[in-house]
Amino acid sequence: MYLKSIEMQGFKSFAMKTKLEFDNGVTGIVGPNGSGKSNVGDAVRWVLGEQSAKQLRGGNMQDVIFAGTQNRKPLGFASVAITLDNADRKLAFDADEVTVTRKLYRSGESEYLLNGRNCRLRDINELFYDTGIGKEGYSIIGQGQIEKILSGKPEERRELFDEAAGIVKFKRRKATSLKK
Ligand code: ATP
Ligand code: MG
Repeated sequence: MYLKSIEMQGFKSFAMKTKLEFDNGVTGIVGPNGSGKSNVGDAVRWVLGEQSAKQLRGGNMQDVIFAGTQNRKPLGFASVAITLDNADRKLAFDADEVTVTRKLYRSGESEYLLNGRNCRLRDINELFYDTGIGKEGYSIIGQGQIEKILSGKPEERRELFDEAAGIVKFKRRKATSLKK
C-alpha cells in the first residue's frame, strides 16, 4: 500500500485544481518559504478526518478554504482527495485503489466519500485503524511531535504502540460493546 496521489482544489493556497502524483518510493517536496509545502501535509491530515483547526494551523475549520489573494477571488469550498494503492489489500476494502475525499463548503456543509460514495467520518476512521495512516497514526510526524512523544505521558505513548501492534480496532470494539 502506498500513496499514489493527492488532489486539492480550494484547499489553503491550492486554489486551482492541483494533482500531485507519487511513485512507490521516497518523494521530497521542496520550495521557498510560504510556497505551500506544509499545506500538502495539512491536506493529507484533513482528508483523513482531522477535526482540529489548530492542528491544521488555522483558527476555525473554514480557514482551510482558499481565502483569496490580490488577484484571485476567495473560493466557496475546499476539496481534497487522496488515492492509495491497495493492490496488497492492506486496507480492508475490496478494490485495487482507495480514494478518500473530503469537501467543505463555506456554509459549513461537509462530506466524505470513499471511492466516490458518500460515507461517514467513522467509516474512514475504521478503515485506517491499525494501519498507522489514520489521523492519529504515525504516518504523519509533524514539527514538534517527536518532542511530544518523548515528553508525553506513558498512556499517550502506549497509543502509538497499540496502533503499530494492530490492536486499536479491538480496543475500540471492546469500548463500544461495554457502552451498550
Ligand atoms: P515554510 O518553508 O516556511 O515552512 P511552506 O512551504 O511550508 O513554508 P505553507 O505553510 O505550506 O508554506 O504555506 C503557507 C502559505 O499558505 C501562506 O502564504 C498562506 O497565506 C497560504 N494559505 C494558508 N491558508 C490559506 C487560505 N485559506 N487561502 C489562501 N492561502 C492560504
Ligand atoms: Mg512549512
